[in-house]
Amino acid sequence: MGTSEANRFRVTVDDLRRAVDADVRRNWSDRQWMRWLEASAMLRGQSFRNVVLIKLQLPDAVWVEGRQGWQRRGRRVVRGASGIRIVAPTADFDRHAGPVQGHGVATVWDVSQTDGAQIVRSSLGPVVSVRPRNVFAGLAQVAAAAGYSVEQGSLSADMRGGGTDRRRRRIVVPGEFDDPVVALRLAHELAHLRMHKLSRDSGCHGLVRLEAASVAYTLLARFGVVPGGVSTDLIPSVSGMVGRSPAARLVETLGGRVVAVAGRLIDAAERHIPTSEMRLDRAGSKSIDLDAETRQPDLGL
Ligand SMILES: [Zn+2]
Repeated sequence: MGTSEANRFRVTVDDLRRAVDADVRRNWSDRQWMRWLEASAMLRGQSFRNVVLIKLQLPDAVWVEGRQGWQRRGRRVVRGASGIRIVAPTADFDRHAGPVQGHGVATVWDVSQTDGAQIVRSSLGPVVSVRPRNVFAGLAQVAAAAGYSVEQGSLSADMRGGGTDRRRRRIVVPGEFDDPVVALRLAHELAHLRMHKLSRDSGCHGLVRLEAASVAYTLLARFGVVPGGVSTDLIPSVSGMVGRSPAARLVETLGGRVVAVAGRLIDAAERHIPTSEMRLDRAGSKSIDLDAETRQPDLGL
């Protein structure tokens, strides 16, 4: 791991925590929430806190790995590129049980800070662009695996604006399957199924609605099919829900739940989307331009 490099700069887990707190305090907004979700869609496998840390240090980062991770892909970190400091995954953390000062910090580099072999496409790589119909089909398979059928139709009143009938185990979505909004709708319902116990008395509102909408947005961002580009209408106002200056811990908890569920849904959906249907989008291709000037992170400490 990059722990020795991190220690050279004496960055501790507490420093990272303070950096996240300060960033959330400084930049909190509905739009920033969406940016973090978009980033988490690309930076697969990273916790919400680490997504905040990575975007803080290197805003254009799309794909980070440790030094050995890049070596395994036939690439190496270019000389002089300073790493991005993140909180080490828990598995590494546990080996250092006890005080975390000086431990628990890992160093990663963005693909733009490496050179070597051509990038092999990977599920951990940059965002892909998939046709809405294929995203929908992948999600429908995920629903089927959970025992739910997916049907096209209009929503009945007793569904309370949601499209899931848990008793009959079916999800109803409006409109054509080519429409990204329909894929978004299905992702939203799948998020509820994984996160919430909606009874007859509770509907899709408040925090529950915010979480499901945020998961669905993250998932569609991953596949490059966000309806109508970026619009804050797709997610209820998060600052309206948790306030204009929430505790960083609250944002991390909310973000952690959303990113974890979105990650599992993305993994599940990707298994049902043919590789031939996935392609790097323009932004992804540009970000792995090997001639690009090496970017340098700044933790702002
Ligand atoms: Zn809902």
